[in-house]
Amino acid sequence: MKIDGSCHCGSIRYEAEVDPARVYICHCTDCQSITGSAFRWAVSVAEDDFTILSGKPKTYLKTSDGGATSHQLFCPDCASPLYAYSETEGPRFFNLRVGTARQRADLTPKSQYWCRSSQNWIDILGATKGHDTQ
Ligand SMILES: [Zn+2]
Ligand SMILES: [Zn+2]
Repeated sequence: MKIDGSCHCGSIRYEAEVDPARVYICHCTDCQSITGSAFRWAVSVAEDDFTILSGKPKTYLKTSDGGATSHQLFCPDCASPLYAYSETEGPRFFNLRVGTARQRADLTPKSQYWCRSSQNWIDILGATKGHDTQ
């Protein structure tokens, strides 16, 4: 599926070819602190299927508890997280942040990771009071 997107301020724009079956959310504590939210929503995409159309993201190097380094790319102007990748041999995969994609409504998560650190209100979210706008 062809998608395109941008950071919130619009200075960084991209397009990608993604498989909707590879959309996931991650409840790990690193994703919680980097997103400032309860979980990360992402889709894994081959490096060759991802193109930056404009702008230049900034990189934050994250080191995991196990010592692995990942490159976390974000917009230096508006701070939107855009994608991340790990140092690996062979072809790279980018974990694209789905909230930046124009087609995000069609990219429903198919799997969840690090459920052991998920917030305990996730399963009751549908029962909380909703407002159509702020
Ligand atoms: Zn931006
Ligand atoms: Zn995570």
